[in-house]
Amino acid sequence: MSFTKFDFNPKITAGIKACNYETPTPIQEDAIPAILEGRDIMGLAQTGTGKTAAFVLPILQRLLNGPRGKVRTLIVAPTRELAEQIHSDIIKLGRQTGIRSVAIYGGVAKMPQIKKIRSGVEIIVACPGRLLDHLNDRTFNLSKVDHLVLDEADHMFDMGFLPDIKRILKALPSERQTLLFSATMPSEIRNLAEDILNNPVRVQIAHSRPTATVEQMIFSVEQNRKTTLLKDIMAKTKMSSTLIFTRTKYRAESLARQLEKAGYAATSLQGNLSQQKRQKALSGFKRGEFKVLVATDIAARGIDVSGISHVINYDVPGTVDAYTHRVGRTGRASATGEAFTFASREDRKIIDQIERSLGKKINRNKNTEFTVEVPDNTPLGGKPVKKSWNKPKKNFGFAGGRRNGRPEGRGASSAGAVKQDQSPVGRNGRPARRGAAPAGAGKQEQPSGNYRKAGSRHKRKSRAAVLDSSFGNLFLNS
Ligand code: AMP
Repeated sequence: MSFTKFDFNPKITAGIKACNYETPTPIQEDAIPAILEGRDIMGLAQTGTGKTAAFVLPILQRLLNGPRGKVRTLIVAPTRELAEQIHSDIIKLGRQTGIRSVAIYGGVAKMPQIKKIRSGVEIIVACPGRLLDHLNDRTFNLSKVDHLVLDEADHMFDMGFLPDIKRILKALPSERQTLLFSATMPSEIRNLAEDILNNPVRVQIAHSRPTATVEQMIFSVEQNRKTTLLKDIMAKTKMSSTLIFTRTKYRAESLARQLEKAGYAATSLQGNLSQQKRQKALSGFKRGEFKVLVATDIAARGIDVSGISHVINYDVPGTVDAYTHRVGRTGRASATGEAFTFASREDRKIIDQIERSLGKKINRNKNTEFTVEVPDNTPLGGKPVKKSWNKPKKNFGFAGGRRNGRPEGRGASSAGAVKQDQSPVGRNGRPARRGAAPAGAGKQEQPSGNYRKAGSRHKRKSRAAVLDSSFGNLFLNS
Protein backbone atom coordinates (compact mmCIF):
# COMPACT_ATOMS: atom_id res chain seq x y z
CA MET A 1 0.00 0.00 0.00
CA SER A 2 1.21 3.49 -0.72
CA PHE A 3 0.39 6.98 0.54
CA THR A 4 -1.22 7.82 -2.82
CA LYS A 5 -4.37 6.03 -1.64
CA PHE A 6 -5.11 8.87 0.79
CA ASP A 7 -5.24 11.45 -1.95
CA PHE A 8 -3.26 13.99 0.03
CA ASN A 9 -2.70 17.47 -1.30
CA PRO A 10 0.62 17.58 -3.26
CA LYS A 11 2.04 19.93 -0.60
CA ILE A 12 1.58 17.19 1.96
CA THR A 13 2.83 14.49 -0.38
CA ALA A 14 6.00 16.57 -0.71
CA GLY A 15 6.43 16.44 3.08
CA ILE A 16 5.98 12.66 3.10
CA LYS A 17 8.64 12.37 0.40
CA ALA A 18 10.99 14.69 2.26
CA CYS A 19 10.74 12.37 5.27
CA ASN A 20 11.42 9.35 3.02
CA TYR A 21 8.25 7.58 4.07
CA GLU A 22 7.35 5.10 1.35
CA THR A 23 4.52 3.06 2.78
CA PRO A 24 2.15 3.89 5.60
CA THR A 25 2.63 2.05 8.87
CA PRO A 26 -0.34 -0.04 10.13
CA ILE A 27 -1.61 2.73 12.39
CA GLN A 28 -1.37 5.21 9.54
CA GLU A 29 -3.33 2.87 7.28
CA ASP A 30 -6.10 2.63 9.83
CA ALA A 31 -6.20 6.10 11.30
CA ILE A 32 -5.61 8.42 8.35
CA PRO A 33 -8.84 7.68 6.40
CA ALA A 34 -10.98 8.00 9.53
CA ILE A 35 -9.35 11.29 10.56
CA LEU A 36 -9.73 12.65 7.04
CA GLU A 37 -13.45 11.87 7.31
CA GLY A 38 -13.63 13.93 10.49
CA ARG A 39 -14.22 10.98 12.83
CA ASP A 40 -13.05 10.89 16.45
CA ILE A 41 -10.34 8.34 17.15
CA MET A 42 -9.50 6.16 20.11
CA GLY A 43 -6.01 4.97 19.24
CA LEU A 44 -4.28 2.31 21.27
CA ALA A 45 -0.77 2.73 20.05
CA GLN A 46 2.54 3.87 21.32
CA THR A 47 5.40 5.94 20.13
CA GLY A 48 7.50 4.15 17.54
CA THR A 49 4.55 2.97 15.45
CA GLY A 50 4.36 6.04 13.22
CA LYS A 51 1.57 7.42 15.40
CA THR A 52 2.61 11.06 15.06
CA ALA A 53 2.37 11.13 11.27
CA ALA A 54 -0.89 9.16 11.57
CA PHE A 55 -2.54 12.23 13.08
CA VAL A 56 -0.34 15.03 11.74
CA LEU A 57 -0.81 14.21 8.04
CA PRO A 58 -4.64 14.18 7.98
CA ILE A 59 -4.79 17.22 10.28
CA LEU A 60 -2.52 19.15 7.91
CA GLN A 61 -4.80 18.14 5.05
CA ARG A 62 -7.87 19.36 6.91
CA LEU A 63 -6.17 22.61 7.90
CA LEU A 64 -5.37 23.40 4.27
CA ASN A 65 -9.05 24.19 3.90
CA GLY A 66 -10.30 26.99 6.10
CA PRO A 67 -8.96 30.14 7.70
CA ARG A 68 -5.27 30.73 8.43
CA GLY A 69 -3.62 32.48 11.34
CA LYS A 70 -6.03 31.09 13.93
CA VAL A 71 -5.31 28.28 16.38
CA ARG A 72 -7.37 25.46 14.91
CA THR A 73 -5.51 22.44 16.26
CA LEU A 74 -4.39 21.75 19.79
CA ILE A 75 -2.12 18.81 20.49
CA VAL A 76 -1.49 18.04 24.16
CA ALA A 77 1.49 15.88 25.12
CA PRO A 78 2.90 14.91 28.52
CA THR A 79 6.55 15.91 28.16
CA ARG A 80 8.50 18.77 26.65
CA GLU A 81 10.55 16.35 24.62
CA LEU A 82 7.47 14.77 23.09
CA ALA A 83 5.94 18.19 22.41
CA GLU A 84 9.14 19.26 20.63
CA GLN A 85 9.20 16.02 18.69
CA ILE A 86 5.63 16.41 17.46
CA HIS A 87 6.26 20.07 16.61
CA SER A 88 9.33 19.17 14.58
CA ASP A 89 7.42 16.41 12.74
CA ILE A 90 4.76 18.97 11.85
CA ILE A 91 7.43 21.30 10.48
CA LYS A 92 8.99 18.52 8.41
CA LEU A 93 5.75 17.05 7.09
CA GLY A 94 4.06 20.40 6.58
CA ARG A 95 6.99 22.37 5.19
CA GLN A 96 5.25 23.16 1.93
CA THR A 97 1.84 23.81 3.39
CA GLY A 98 2.56 27.15 5.06
CA ILE A 99 0.80 25.88 8.18
CA ARG A 100 2.54 27.09 11.32
CA SER A 101 2.99 25.37 14.63
CA VAL A 102 4.36 26.32 18.02
CA ALA A 103 5.48 24.19 20.95
CA ILE A 104 4.39 25.44 24.37
CA TYR A 105 5.86 24.11 27.58
CA GLY A 106 7.24 25.27 30.90
CA GLY A 107 10.83 25.93 31.88
CA VAL A 108 11.26 28.63 29.24
CA ALA A 109 9.98 32.20 28.97
CA LYS A 110 6.30 32.71 28.25
CA MET A 111 6.61 35.85 26.16
CA PRO A 112 8.18 34.33 23.01
CA GLN A 113 5.40 31.73 23.09
CA ILE A 114 2.74 34.44 23.30
CA LYS A 115 4.36 36.44 20.51
CA LYS A 116 4.53 33.38 18.26
CA ILE A 117 0.88 32.56 18.84
CA ARG A 118 -0.20 36.15 18.26
CA SER A 119 1.79 36.25 15.03
CA GLY A 120 -0.64 33.61 13.75
CA VAL A 121 -0.24 29.87 14.13
CA GLU A 122 -2.67 27.13 13.23
CA ILE A 123 -1.29 24.43 15.52
CA ILE A 124 -0.28 24.51 19.19
CA VAL A 125 1.58 21.53 20.61
CA ALA A 126 1.50 21.95 24.37
CA CYS A 127 2.26 20.40 27.70
CA PRO A 128 -0.73 20.78 30.03
CA GLY A 129 0.83 22.90 32.80
CA ARG A 130 2.14 25.78 30.71
CA LEU A 131 -0.91 25.74 28.48
CA LEU A 132 -3.13 26.22 31.53
CA ASP A 133 -0.90 29.05 32.70
CA HIS A 134 -1.48 30.83 29.41
CA LEU A 135 -5.19 30.17 29.54
CA ASN A 136 -5.35 31.55 33.07
CA ASP A 137 -3.40 34.63 31.94
CA ARG A 138 -5.85 34.96 29.02
CA THR A 139 -2.94 35.59 26.70
CA PHE A 140 -4.78 33.77 23.92
CA ASN A 141 -7.86 31.66 23.62
CA LEU A 142 -8.71 28.37 22.02
CA SER A 143 -12.20 29.21 20.81
CA LYS A 144 -11.42 28.34 17.19
CA VAL A 145 -9.94 24.92 17.86
CA ASP A 146 -11.62 22.25 15.80
CA HIS A 147 -9.07 19.44 16.19
CA LEU A 148 -7.85 18.23 19.58
CA VAL A 149 -5.22 15.53 19.97
CA LEU A 150 -4.43 14.05 23.39
CA ASP A 151 -1.23 12.12 22.90
CA GLU A 152 0.02 9.52 25.37
CA ALA A 153 -3.03 10.01 27.53
CA ASP A 154 -1.99 7.24 29.91
CA HIS A 155 1.33 8.92 30.49
CA MET A 156 -0.44 12.22 31.21
CA PHE A 157 -2.61 10.40 33.70
CA ASP A 158 0.49 8.81 35.30
CA MET A 159 1.98 12.25 35.68
CA GLY A 160 -1.10 13.59 37.41
CA PHE A 161 -2.22 15.77 34.50
CA LEU A 162 -5.79 14.52 34.27
CA PRO A 163 -7.31 17.45 36.23
CA ASP A 164 -5.36 19.88 34.00
CA ILE A 165 -6.67 18.14 30.91
CA LYS A 166 -10.22 18.49 32.17
CA ARG A 167 -9.67 22.21 32.70
CA ILE A 168 -8.21 22.59 29.23
CA LEU A 169 -11.19 20.78 27.73
CA LYS A 170 -13.47 23.45 29.21
CA ALA A 171 -11.63 26.10 27.20
CA LEU A 172 -12.35 24.32 23.90
CA PRO A 173 -15.42 24.43 21.70
CA SER A 174 -17.55 21.33 22.22
CA GLU A 175 -17.94 20.94 18.45
CA ARG A 176 -14.58 19.53 17.44
CA GLN A 177 -12.80 16.42 16.26
CA THR A 178 -10.99 14.65 19.11
CA LEU A 179 -8.20 12.13 18.72
CA LEU A 180 -7.06 10.32 21.82
CA PHE A 181 -3.95 8.15 21.79
CA SER A 182 -2.81 5.98 24.62
CA ALA A 183 -0.45 3.02 24.88
CA THR A 184 -2.54 1.43 27.62
CA MET A 185 -6.13 1.73 28.76
CA PRO A 186 -6.42 2.25 32.50
CA SER A 187 -9.99 2.83 33.64
CA GLU A 188 -9.42 6.57 34.04
CA ILE A 189 -8.48 6.88 30.38
CA ARG A 190 -11.42 4.69 29.35
CA ASN A 191 -13.73 7.02 31.30
CA LEU A 192 -12.13 10.08 29.75
CA ALA A 193 -12.55 8.57 26.30
CA GLU A 194 -16.23 7.86 26.97
CA ASP A 195 -16.73 11.45 28.09
CA ILE A 196 -15.00 13.26 25.30
CA LEU A 197 -15.12 11.07 22.19
CA ASN A 198 -18.10 11.03 19.92
CA ASN A 199 -18.69 7.64 18.32
CA PRO A 200 -14.96 7.09 17.87
CA VAL A 201 -13.24 4.78 15.43
CA ARG A 202 -11.02 2.44 17.40
CA VAL A 203 -7.57 1.96 16.06
CA GLN A 204 -5.47 -0.59 17.82
CA ILE A 205 -2.01 -1.70 17.00
CA ALA A 206 -1.48 -5.22 18.31
CA HIS A 207 -0.25 -4.96 21.82
CA SER A 208 2.83 -2.94 22.06
CA ARG A 209 5.94 -4.97 21.57
CA PRO A 210 9.42 -3.87 20.87
CA THR A 211 10.19 -4.27 17.23
CA ALA A 212 11.48 -7.64 16.04
CA THR A 213 14.72 -6.06 14.91
CA VAL A 214 15.76 -5.37 18.49
CA GLU A 215 17.71 -8.11 20.21
CA GLN A 216 16.89 -8.09 23.90
CA MET A 217 18.97 -9.53 26.70
CA ILE A 218 18.83 -9.66 30.46
CA PHE A 219 21.91 -9.48 32.64
CA SER A 220 21.48 -10.65 36.22
CA VAL A 221 23.35 -8.23 38.40
CA GLU A 222 23.17 -6.83 41.86
CA GLN A 223 22.50 -3.16 42.15
CA ASN A 224 25.92 -2.38 43.51
CA ARG A 225 27.68 -3.91 40.54
CA LYS A 226 25.70 -2.36 37.78
CA THR A 227 28.13 0.42 36.98
CA THR A 228 31.04 -1.99 36.77
CA LEU A 229 29.05 -4.30 34.51
CA LEU A 230 28.00 -1.35 32.39
CA LYS A 231 31.54 -0.16 31.91
CA ASP A 232 32.67 -3.67 31.11
CA ILE A 233 29.97 -4.14 28.49
CA MET A 234 30.68 -0.74 27.01
CA ALA A 235 34.37 -1.51 26.79
CA LYS A 236 33.81 -4.84 25.07
CA THR A 237 30.86 -4.11 22.81
CA LYS A 238 30.75 -2.05 19.67
CA MET A 239 28.22 0.66 20.42
CA SER A 240 27.72 3.62 18.15
CA SER A 241 25.08 5.40 20.16
CA THR A 242 23.83 4.30 23.55
CA LEU A 243 20.80 5.35 25.55
CA ILE A 244 20.88 4.30 29.20
CA PHE A 245 17.82 4.48 31.43
CA THR A 246 17.90 4.92 35.16
CA ARG A 247 15.06 5.10 37.62
CA THR A 248 15.89 8.48 39.14
CA LYS A 249 17.10 11.85 37.96
CA TYR A 250 19.85 11.77 40.52
CA ARG A 251 21.13 8.45 39.32
CA ALA A 252 21.03 9.56 35.67
CA GLU A 253 23.10 12.61 36.48
CA SER A 254 25.58 10.73 38.62
CA LEU A 255 26.00 7.85 36.19
CA ALA A 256 26.58 10.20 33.26
CA ARG A 257 29.25 11.93 35.29
CA GLN A 258 30.95 8.63 36.09
CA LEU A 259 30.91 7.59 32.44
CA GLU A 260 32.30 10.94 31.43
CA LYS A 261 35.13 10.47 33.92
CA ALA A 262 35.74 7.05 32.42
CA GLY A 263 36.32 8.73 29.07
CA TYR A 264 32.93 8.39 27.38
CA ALA A 265 31.25 11.28 25.61
CA ALA A 266 28.28 11.03 27.95
CA THR A 267 25.61 13.38 29.19
CA SER A 268 22.32 13.11 31.03
CA LEU A 269 18.75 14.06 30.21
CA GLN A 270 16.57 14.35 33.25
CA GLY A 271 14.07 16.62 34.89
CA ASN A 272 16.56 18.51 37.06
CA LEU A 273 18.02 20.20 34.03
CA SER A 274 16.82 23.52 32.70
CA GLN A 275 15.01 23.33 29.39
CA GLN A 276 18.05 24.79 27.68
CA LYS A 277 20.31 22.08 29.08
CA ARG A 278 17.83 19.36 28.20
CA GLN A 279 17.74 20.57 24.63
CA LYS A 280 21.52 20.79 24.52
CA ALA A 281 21.84 17.21 25.75
CA LEU A 282 19.26 15.91 23.31
CA SER A 283 20.56 17.74 20.27
CA GLY A 284 24.16 16.85 21.17
CA PHE A 285 23.10 13.21 21.31
CA LYS A 286 21.22 13.51 18.02
CA ARG A 287 24.24 15.03 16.33
CA GLY A 288 26.53 12.32 17.69
CA GLU A 289 28.49 14.77 19.80
CA PHE A 290 27.48 12.65 22.81
CA LYS A 291 27.69 8.92 22.22
CA VAL A 292 25.99 8.08 25.50
CA LEU A 293 22.85 9.61 26.93
CA VAL A 294 21.73 8.63 30.42
CA ALA A 295 18.07 9.43 30.83
CA THR A 296 15.05 8.93 33.01
CA ASP A 297 11.76 7.79 31.53
CA ILE A 298 10.73 11.35 30.94
CA ALA A 299 13.06 11.23 27.97
CA ALA A 300 11.84 7.91 26.66
CA ARG A 301 8.67 9.10 25.05
CA GLY A 302 9.99 11.98 23.09
CA ILE A 303 13.32 10.71 21.90
CA ASP A 304 13.27 10.07 18.21
CA VAL A 305 16.91 9.68 17.41
CA SER A 306 17.76 7.46 14.52
CA GLY A 307 20.70 5.13 14.82
CA ILE A 308 20.60 4.38 18.55
CA SER A 309 22.49 1.08 18.55
CA HIS A 310 21.94 0.19 22.21
CA VAL A 311 19.38 0.79 24.89
CA ILE A 312 20.50 -0.21 28.36
CA ASN A 313 18.03 -0.47 31.19
CA TYR A 314 20.41 0.22 34.03
CA ASP A 315 17.30 -0.01 36.18
CA VAL A 316 14.39 -2.19 35.16
CA PRO A 317 11.44 0.08 34.39
CA GLY A 318 8.43 0.07 36.67
CA THR A 319 5.93 -1.02 34.03
CA VAL A 320 5.73 -3.17 30.93
CA ASP A 321 4.74 -0.14 28.97
CA ALA A 322 7.81 1.81 30.03
CA TYR A 323 9.95 -1.17 28.99
CA THR A 324 8.40 -1.17 25.54
CA HIS A 325 8.94 2.53 25.15
CA ARG A 326 12.53 2.40 26.26
CA VAL A 327 13.44 -0.55 24.08
CA GLY A 328 11.61 1.09 21.18
CA ARG A 329 14.18 3.89 21.14
CA THR A 330 16.43 1.49 19.24
CA GLY A 331 15.47 -0.52 16.19
CA ARG A 332 13.49 2.48 14.91
CA ALA A 333 12.17 2.43 11.38
CA SER A 334 13.43 -1.14 10.86
CA ALA A 335 17.01 -0.52 11.95
CA THR A 336 18.57 -3.18 14.17
CA GLY A 337 19.52 -2.60 17.76
CA GLU A 338 20.26 -4.26 21.07
CA ALA A 339 18.50 -3.71 24.38
CA PHE A 340 20.19 -4.86 27.56
CA THR A 341 18.36 -4.96 30.86
CA PHE A 342 20.14 -5.14 34.20
CA ALA A 343 17.91 -7.08 36.54
CA SER A 344 18.27 -8.27 40.08
CA ARG A 345 16.24 -10.79 41.96
CA GLU A 346 13.87 -8.11 43.12
CA ASP A 347 12.91 -7.34 39.56
CA ARG A 348 11.53 -10.82 39.02
CA LYS A 349 7.90 -9.77 39.08
CA ILE A 350 8.16 -7.05 36.50
CA ILE A 351 10.41 -9.21 34.29
CA ASP A 352 7.70 -11.88 34.38
CA GLN A 353 5.13 -9.31 33.35
CA ILE A 354 7.32 -8.01 30.54
CA GLU A 355 7.88 -11.52 29.23
CA ARG A 356 4.20 -12.34 29.43
CA SER A 357 3.46 -9.26 27.40
CA LEU A 358 6.16 -10.13 24.86
CA GLY A 359 4.86 -13.68 24.69
CA LYS A 360 8.38 -15.05 25.05
CA LYS A 361 11.35 -15.26 27.37
CA ILE A 362 14.04 -12.69 26.94
CA ASN A 363 17.50 -14.20 26.44
CA ARG A 364 19.71 -14.31 29.50
CA ASN A 365 23.29 -13.37 29.04
CA LYS A 366 25.40 -16.51 29.18
CA ASN A 367 28.58 -14.85 28.10
CA THR A 368 31.09 -15.12 30.88
CA GLU A 369 33.20 -12.50 29.18
CA PHE A 370 31.68 -9.85 31.36
CA THR A 371 33.44 -10.18 34.64
CA VAL A 372 34.12 -7.81 37.46
CA GLU A 373 37.42 -7.58 39.18
CA VAL A 374 36.60 -7.12 42.82
CA PRO A 375 39.11 -4.81 44.46
CA ASP A 376 41.77 -6.31 46.68
CA ASN A 377 40.34 -4.72 49.78
CA THR A 378 37.19 -6.77 49.59
CA PRO A 379 36.39 -7.83 53.15
CA LEU A 380 37.11 -11.46 53.64
CA GLY A 381 35.14 -12.91 56.46
CA GLY A 382 31.64 -12.92 57.74
CA LYS A 383 32.05 -9.86 59.92
CA PRO A 384 28.96 -7.77 60.39
CA VAL A 385 28.77 -4.81 58.05
CA LYS A 386 26.35 -2.34 59.55
CA LYS A 387 24.46 -0.11 57.18
CA SER A 388 22.24 2.68 58.30
CA TRP A 389 19.16 4.11 56.62
CA ASN A 390 20.40 7.61 56.47
CA LYS A 391 23.88 7.33 55.14
CA PRO A 392 23.50 7.14 51.39
CA LYS A 393 27.26 7.26 50.85
CA LYS A 394 27.31 3.55 51.56
CA ASN A 395 25.77 1.33 49.01
CA PHE A 396 22.19 0.58 49.94
CA GLY A 397 21.17 -0.76 46.62
CA PHE A 398 22.06 -4.30 47.48
CA ALA A 399 19.18 -5.55 45.47
CA GLY A 400 18.31 -9.17 45.73
CA GLY A 401 21.43 -10.17 47.55
CA ARG A 402 19.91 -11.64 50.66
CA ARG A 403 17.03 -13.74 51.71
CA ASN A 404 16.44 -14.98 55.24
CA GLY A 405 19.59 -13.37 56.49
CA ARG A 406 21.83 -15.41 54.23
CA PRO A 407 23.72 -14.22 51.19
CA GLU A 408 22.34 -15.50 47.94
CA GLY A 409 24.67 -18.26 47.00
CA ARG A 410 28.27 -18.26 46.00
CA GLY A 411 29.61 -15.25 44.32
CA ALA A 412 27.37 -12.83 46.12
CA SER A 413 29.67 -10.08 47.13
CA SER A 414 29.34 -7.74 50.03
CA ALA A 415 27.39 -4.62 49.34
CA GLY A 416 29.75 -1.89 48.42
CA ALA A 417 32.51 -4.31 47.46
CA VAL A 418 32.73 -2.77 44.06
CA LYS A 419 34.17 0.60 44.62
CA GLN A 420 32.80 2.36 41.62
CA ASP A 421 29.33 1.91 42.89
CA GLN A 422 29.73 3.38 46.27
CA SER A 423 28.36 6.60 44.96
CA PRO A 424 24.66 7.17 45.37
CA VAL A 425 24.11 5.66 41.95
CA GLY A 426 23.94 2.35 43.65
CA ARG A 427 21.26 3.26 46.15
CA ASN A 428 17.54 3.11 46.10
CA GLY A 429 17.41 -0.24 44.43
CA ARG A 430 13.73 -0.79 45.11
CA PRO A 431 11.66 -2.14 42.30
CA ALA A 432 8.61 -0.10 41.47
CA ARG A 433 5.41 -1.42 42.94
CA ARG A 434 3.01 -3.24 40.74
CA GLY A 435 0.85 -0.73 38.97
CA ALA A 436 3.15 2.10 39.90
CA ALA A 437 3.58 4.87 37.42
CA PRO A 438 6.66 4.67 35.26
CA ALA A 439 9.49 5.81 37.40
CA GLY A 440 11.00 8.94 36.08
CA ALA A 441 7.71 10.25 34.77
CA GLY A 442 7.26 13.76 36.05
CA LYS A 443 6.80 13.83 39.79
CA GLN A 444 7.62 10.16 40.14
CA GLU A 445 11.07 10.94 38.90
CA GLN A 446 12.13 12.09 42.34
CA PRO A 447 14.31 9.69 44.25
CA SER A 448 11.91 8.04 46.61
CA GLY A 449 14.17 8.21 49.61
CA ASN A 450 13.23 4.65 50.51
CA TYR A 451 16.73 3.46 50.80
CA ARG A 452 16.93 -0.22 51.45
CA LYS A 453 18.51 -1.40 54.52
CA ALA A 454 21.36 -3.56 53.48
CA GLY A 455 21.82 -6.78 55.36
CA SER A 456 23.82 -6.82 58.50
CA ARG A 457 26.17 -9.58 57.47
CA HIS A 458 27.81 -10.43 54.23
CA LYS A 459 29.94 -13.24 53.11
CA ARG A 460 33.20 -12.85 51.31
CA LYS A 461 33.68 -13.76 47.82
CA SER A 462 36.41 -14.60 45.42
CA ARG A 463 38.31 -11.80 43.71
CA ALA A 464 36.59 -12.11 40.38
CA ALA A 465 32.88 -12.37 40.18
CA VAL A 466 31.25 -13.42 36.97
CA LEU A 467 28.29 -11.21 36.73
CA ASP A 468 26.03 -12.93 34.35
CA SER A 469 25.62 -16.32 35.86
CA SER A 470 27.16 -16.60 39.25
CA PHE A 471 24.14 -15.62 41.27
CA GLY A 472 20.65 -14.45 41.10
CA ASN A 473 19.98 -16.35 37.94
CA LEU A 474 17.64 -18.85 39.44
CA PHE A 475 14.60 -16.86 38.55
CA LEU A 476 16.06 -15.13 35.57
CA ASN A 477 16.85 -18.38 33.83
CA SER A 478 13.65 -20.09 34.77
P1 AMP B 1 6.40 7.85 16.01
O1 AMP B 1 5.64 6.61 16.41
O2 AMP B 1 5.49 8.90 15.49
O3 AMP B 1 7.31 8.32 17.09
O4 AMP B 1 7.33 7.46 14.77
C1 AMP B 1 8.43 6.59 14.88
C2 AMP B 1 9.43 6.79 13.78
O5 AMP B 1 8.92 6.26 12.56
C3 AMP B 1 9.79 8.25 13.48
O6 AMP B 1 11.17 8.32 13.29
C4 AMP B 1 9.07 8.56 12.19
O7 AMP B 1 9.74 9.55 11.45
C5 AMP B 1 9.09 7.22 11.50
N1 AMP B 1 7.96 7.02 10.57
C6 AMP B 1 6.68 7.42 10.72
N2 AMP B 1 5.93 7.02 9.67
C7 AMP B 1 6.76 6.34 8.85
C8 AMP B 1 6.57 5.68 7.59
N3 AMP B 1 5.38 5.61 7.00
N4 AMP B 1 7.64 5.09 7.03
C9 AMP B 1 8.86 5.13 7.64
N5 AMP B 1 9.11 5.73 8.83
C10 AMP B 1 8.07 6.34 9.43
